Amino acid sequence: MDLLTPKVADIIAHAPSLSGDLTVEDLGLTREDLTLRGALAVGLDFRVVGKTICVTGVLEGTAIRQCVRCLKEFDDPLAFAVHVVYERAAKPPSFPMKPEQTTRKRAAVMVQVHPEEEPDDNLYYYSGDHLELAPMLREQLILASPMHPLCKEDCLGLCAQCGKDLNEGPCHCRGELGESPFLSLWDRQGKARNSANR
Ligand SMILES: [Zn+2]
Ligand SMILES: [Zn+2]
Repeated sequence: MDLLTPKVADIIAHAPSLSGDLTVEDLGLTREDLTLRGALAVGLDFRVVGKTICVTGVLEGTAIRQCVRCLKEFDDPLAFAVHVVYERAAKPPSFPMKPEQTTRKRAAVMVQVHPEEEPDDNLYYYSGDHLELAPMLREQLILASPMHPLCKEDCLGLCAQCGKDLNEGPCHCRGELGESPFLSLWDRQGKARNSANR
C-alpha cells in the first residue's frame, strides 16, 4: 500500500499501520516551505470511525532552518504527532440551489455529521477511492515550523554596523563606539554622507 495514497477500501478492511521515509520531493515541498536534512520518517495509523477515517502518527526528521538573528543555517530536530480526520467530500449538487437553501442545508449537515466537532485544522476531505496524504503532511509540517527560527534562544545576532557574528565574540565597533556619546553623531554623519553620495 502506498504511504501517501492509501486506498480507502484497504483502510476499511485492514485499519493498517504504514511507515516509511519520505523526501521533500515526495511531499512536493519547495525550498521556501521547508528544507530537510535527509528523509522524513513517517509512521501512520489508519482507522475508520463512523463515516470518517482517523489518521494518527508521528513525523520525525531534521529540518534545516535559517536563524533570523545571525542568518546561519542550523539543524533543527523535528518530531511531532499528527492527528487528523478525513471525510468524503460532499458531491456538488447537480443543479444550482438557491443561496438560502444551500446555507441551511450546510448548517444542518454540520450539526448531524460533526456532533463531536473536530478543529478545522485537522479536518481534511477525500474523493475517489484513496486518500491524498501529501497536502495534509505538507500543511502539518509548515504548521509545526517556527515563525522566527533561532539557532539558540540567546543568539546574539549580527552587529548592525560591521555585520560580524556576535556569537563569535564582540566586534571592534562595539568597543569603540558602542557606549560612546559620539555614536549618534557618527551615525548621523554617516547617513548624511551616504545620502550625499546618492
Ligand atoms: Zn543565530
Ligand atoms: Zn561591529
